Amino acid sequence: MIPGPSPVARSIQDQMGRETIAFGDPDFVRDFKGLLADLRQLWKTGGEVFVVAASGTLAMEMAIANSTKRGNRVLVVSHGYFGDRFVEICRRKGLEVDVLASEWGKAVSVREMEAAVRKKKYQAMTVTHVDTSTGVVAPLADIGTLMREYPETILIADGVCATAAEPEQVDEMGIDVLFTGSQKAFGVSPGLAMVWAGPGAMARRKELGVIPEYYCDFDQWVPIMRDPSKYFATPAVNLVWALKESVRIIMEEGLEARYTRHARFAKGIRAGLEALGFGILAEPGVQASTLSGVLYPAGLDDAEFRRILAEEGVQVAGGLGAYAGRMFRLGHMGNIDQHDLVSVLAAIERTLLRCGKKIKIGSGVSAFMESLAKHAPM
Ligand code: PMP
Repeated sequence: MIPGPSPVARSIQDQMGRETIAFGDPDFVRDFKGLLADLRQLWKTGGEVFVVAASGTLAMEMAIANSTKRGNRVLVVSHGYFGDRFVEICRRKGLEVDVLASEWGKAVSVREMEAAVRKKKYQAMTVTHVDTSTGVVAPLADIGTLMREYPETILIADGVCATAAEPEQVDEMGIDVLFTGSQKAFGVSPGLAMVWAGPGAMARRKELGVIPEYYCDFDQWVPIMRDPSKYFATPAVNLVWALKESVRIIMEEGLEARYTRHARFAKGIRAGLEALGFGILAEPGVQASTLSGVLYPAGLDDAEFRRILAEEGVQVAGGLGAYAGRMFRLGHMGNIDQHDLVSVLAAIERTLLRCGKKIKIGSGVSAFMESLAKHAPM
């Protein structure tokens, strides 16, 4: 239950276990083409979609590489560790970076963003939809609405810990570039990056002419994504199949239903954790549906708690930065169900008892079930 890689469903694993075939095999070309069409349609862009062998970080570089050139100005909105990563990527590329950062657990307001873009002209702006270090969700729809008034600024959204769990419609929301990785809310093993580039982003790419990056260049990939029988760089055949199965599962559930499920589970799990005496790092109103930063009550040792919890069957991640030792991070995204979360809470209860905490057995699970009932879908 770490915040990615998240659990991989059996049918997705099966796709990775298939015999690998040539990427030019008509069966694979058909499968890849179908996957790309589904991704474009589900996330609603009239632009392009790219699926490449990469982790999320390469997708970050890809977004920057195709929308800026040396000397350009970029505004980075940071709600934690992964927002800050953009600063480093941009500086290495010779971009001038301004940062709007919040205290961990809080979010930068759209008003602050408006003041910044009004004051200076930026060629691009980055927002981490959900920062995995803090569990803070950015108000992406409102940011998109604001940035419609600044079409010369390419809006880049990092959806690594959000896409397929938090609502995102590329063109409708005014997002120019959205990207994610396979290992989070898609519930596939790590290894693929998915990037959506709306019409504004593709127009910017055209303006840039030849760019220094080779593998990252949208222009190299456009012909392949339109006709996957062509070659630029070898696709990760089995991961593409695995992603296709993930998208089939997503379509079977329905994206809207998937967003609702994630929101409902997130509320429930937090109710359960709070009933057991834990706190949540992200403030109410900016809490993500995909993970929680869970603050320890007094008297619990992080290393001991996580070691015992792992013995009880649940692996969680430690806190980052100043929160190392003070909290754990619990992923609740992808293809999981309420039975998984009941088991997680029960394991946490057993762990608390083994750590010598006096809790009422079942109180976390009850709070979870009550919250689910209260937020039942109509
Ligand atoms: N952005 C966010 C929000 C992330 O959570 C991560 C990884 N956890 C990344 C970017 C980087 O992705 P990767 O580790 O796949 O390179």
